[in-house]
Order: sequence, then C-alpha cells, then structure tokens
Amino acid sequence: MNILILDRKFKALVKSERKIMHEILLMIQTFDLTRNYCELGYSSLYEYLTKEIRYSEGAAQRRISSARLMRECPQIERDLPTGELNLSQVALACVAFKKEDFSKCRKAEIINRIKNLNLYETKKILLAECPNFAIPKAAPLPTREKKVQITLVFTEDEWSEVQTLMARMSHKVTDQKIESALLYWAREIKKKQSAPPPRRRQTAEVKPAQKSPPLRRRKAIPAAVQKIVLKKAGHQCEFVSPITGRRCEAKHFVESDHVIAIALGGTNEIENLRALCKQHNLYSAKQSGLSSPP
Ligand SMILES: [Zn+2]
Repeated sequence: MNILILDRKFKALVKSERKIMHEILLMIQTFDLTRNYCELGYSSLYEYLTKEIRYSEGAAQRRISSARLMRECPQIERDLPTGELNLSQVALACVAFKKEDFSKCRKAEIINRIKNLNLYETKKILLAECPNFAIPKAAPLPTREKKVQITLVFTEDEWSEVQTLMARMSHKVTDQKIESALLYWAREIKKKQSAPPPRRRQTAEVKPAQKSPPLRRRKAIPAAVQKIVLKKAGHQCEFVSPITGRRCEAKHFVESDHVIAIALGGTNEIENLRALCKQHNLYSAKQSGLSSPP
C-alpha cells in the first residue's frame, strides 16, 4: 500500500481515537455526577472503571481526573480531540492543582501554557506554577521478601509537621520510622471507627410546644447488634444491584443500615438491618425518598 495512503489512514484512526476519548470523558462525567455506578453495585467510580470497564488503576485515575478538570476548564474539551493536549498532561495538571487554591481562570491559564508540550516540559511548567506540587513517584512495588515498597513525597512544611507528630508519639512509635507511625495511626483510626458510639445523656423530658404529628425518633442501633449485622455480612457491603445482581465489594466504612428506614416505620430489629457502604447508604436513602441516611 502506498505510504501516503497508510499515513492518511493512520491519521484518521488517531482522530477517531481522540474523538472516542472525548466521548468517554463525557460519559465518565455523567457517571460521576449521577453516581450511576451505585445502582450497578459499585461503591465508587474508580471501582466501577477498574472492575467493570477493566481499565488499569492508572488509566482509570487519569480519566477520572481529566473528566473532573474538564468540567472546570472547558477548553480541555476542545484541545483533547485536536491532540493539543493529551490525557497524561491533563491528569498531571489535575494532581498539580489539587493543593493549590487556584481560580478557574488561573487553571485555564496554566492549561493553555502546557498545550503542545511534551510531558517533561509540562512537568517543568507545573512545578514552576504550582508551589505545592510534587511530582508523583512510582506506584507501590512488591519486593522479593513479600513486602511492599512505596515512595512518599512531602513538602518541607508537611514533612516538618509529620516529624513533630512522630516526636510526640515517640512513646508509641519507639523506632521513629515513618512506616511504624503510619501503621500506628491507621490502627488508631480503625479502633475509633469500630468503637461503639458514646452514650447520650438522659435529659429531662420536654413536652412538644405544638401539636405537630409526632416524629419517629431514631434510637441508636446497639453496638452488639451492629456487630452481629456486620459479622453476618462478612464486613462487606450487602448492596446487590437490582440490574446486574452484583454485590458491592466495599469493605471500608461499612455500617449497619435500616432496610426500612425508622422514619418510614422500620425498627432496630436484626431482620431490618443490613451492612452498607457509605455510597450505598446514601443511594438507598435517596431511593426511599430520604435526602440523607436515616
Ligand atoms: Zn456498597
């Protein structure tokens, strides 16, 4: 085949690829705004993109970041399909803007400056423009000794803050290693989350001033009951998509929730309780016509 025909064909394919990428980002924006992934049994957009759509972790993260930044800077929508900007640049800009308090105008200005640049030049501009930006390092690496190696990047101020905290914790984190400190803090957070809620003080009964219909007050679910519900669910969200039959796999921030909300006549009986992740708790509340979880 003539090289010029091949060249034309190649360019046409790349044009279609960019057009499709643009449409994919618009689709991700829709899922992000409507949280459709909840109904399909996923607790986050990232989980949906990696497990259902089968993007790699990096590809999913790059697309989510770019779709979100595209909402703030509409010129990305114009420059991605033409190739003046690429996904890696936009995703990097998104990371760089994270710790900055930039206006939409300022972000748009920087995005304009990285147009038609390679990734190295893009990083240079972003480092110069965003004082709190640190180039993300490589992902966690497994080692031969069945351990995981990660690289942490802090600004000088953040590192000084971490060191101060670690010094205060020297009686708990005796080796003063950052990995020991992280593990200690993570376990402390977990301990606090699984602790039963503090008991409310009994207050004197106050008669209602007006004769409005009595509201059904929500009694806290006893800690022992919560424990049984979570154990029965294997500490995993019990939401099952009515569309695909997929059970949500979330195991973080899973809490007991009422199948029939207290406000709608439900009780604290075990039969009326289930374990739900935060997203599905919000989703179920919305489905029951309640704006927030009961
Ligand atoms: Zn869930």
